Amino acid sequence: MACRSAAGAPAVPTPDWFAEGERHIWLPYTQMATAPPPLPVAATEGTRIVLADGRELVDGIASWWTACHGYNHPHIRAAVADQLARMPHVMFGGLVNEPALRLARRLAGLLPDPLNRVFFSESGSVAVEIALKMALQYRLNQGERGRHRFVSFQGAYHGDTFAAMSVCDPEEGMHSLFAGALPEQHVVPLPRGEAGIAAFNAFLDAEGDSAAAVIIEPLVQGAGGMRFHEPETLQAVRTACDRHGLLLIADEIMTGFGRTGTLFACEQAGIVPDIVTLSKALTGGTMALAATVASDRVFEAFLSERADDALMHGPTFMANPLACAAANASLDLFEREPRLAQARAIERHLEAALEPARALPGVVDVRSRGAIGVIQLDDMSRIDWLKARFVDAGVWVRPFADIVYVTPALTIDEVDLTRLTDALIDVVTAWSRER
Ligand SMILES: *Cc1c(COP(=O)(O)O)cnc(C)c1O
Repeated sequence: MACRSAAGAPAVPTPDWFAEGERHIWLPYTQMATAPPPLPVAATEGTRIVLADGRELVDGIASWWTACHGYNHPHIRAAVADQLARMPHVMFGGLVNEPALRLARRLAGLLPDPLNRVFFSESGSVAVEIALKMALQYRLNQGERGRHRFVSFQGAYHGDTFAAMSVCDPEEGMHSLFAGALPEQHVVPLPRGEAGIAAFNAFLDAEGDSAAAVIIEPLVQGAGGMRFHEPETLQAVRTACDRHGLLLIADEIMTGFGRTGTLFACEQAGIVPDIVTLSKALTGGTMALAATVASDRVFEAFLSERADDALMHGPTFMANPLACAAANASLDLFEREPRLAQARAIERHLEAALEPARALPGVVDVRSRGAIGVIQLDDMSRIDWLKARFVDAGVWVRPFADIVYVTPALTIDEVDLTRLTDALIDVVTAWSRER
């Protein structure tokens, strides 16, 4: 693919749609008074973002790690186009559609037994809300009334809606602002090592009876700062849940679909959660779709003669056929193409290529797992400066919290991956010199 130098931006007028619409939109997590204007995008292709002025950026983020096969994959595009011609949407109340049922069967097949029941929704946060509601109502349906809290972990991120916010890290998360308005949960340290595991068990001995479930992002805490933990931690959490009669919710929204080198992160610990949430890469970055997958035991607790025992949830656009067609096509690609091997190859590249950053003044840590690479800095006061330098260097990388990170498409080739990691090292080196 031809690649124009990012620095030599051709003088192309700002598109009308940008000039006319920009003052009417409200951007995510953005201080609209001071933030530099967003960049108008004309097109995406593979691992490139084409800006309206003609500059082409190598994408380091894959649109919040959704576009695992790169953008505009012809197989996904064809599947969506085909579905669009037949039936873009039909309600899921009392009616079902073929792409959704096929997807449910395939997800149940990919996840370990007994994770066999799929409840669709349209965003990760909602999938988490549904998982929490399932766990609460699972208890209520069994006549247990006192368990309305959740146990979650420091550094966690589970979404932006209110119940999801309540299980995020209360201090470091984006949601400390609403602390007083959120239901109070038990947010505890991740159990690391023998002492950590003992402390976690002691906590559950004391407080476990007030909780319905434990929720965890397996192996990687994503939006809380791309922090990693070992499979042993996950195993300890599973064991503790069993011992204390708590359901385990694995939020695989970030880690699912190959990001950590296995299809699901839980596989690396050999554990089976009671409920799994999926979204982000589910449709290969094509459409909004999420799923909350429950074990047979959880599902069966909702079966009775009483209408009130049914799960009380139903998003309007749940199981949207277009989105499910995209997800089925994405799963085809996982079957046909070596995505997991690609993720592991990216890990090897990131490990070697980012290592030189470790010696730079101001760099706190360098780490990678699967197709996730992180450089942690000691000071983010010049975050806008960093963002601008990355664009100048021809890559799309968006630092947040105290990290510069990449989560590229699993299909990124050696040329683009090298451009990306070279730019990371160059920009962080320049940052380090000027600090
Ligand atoms: C992104 C994310 C969510 C929220 O998903 P949205 O689609 O943005 O609502 C929840 N949990 C994890 C682990 C995530 O990475």
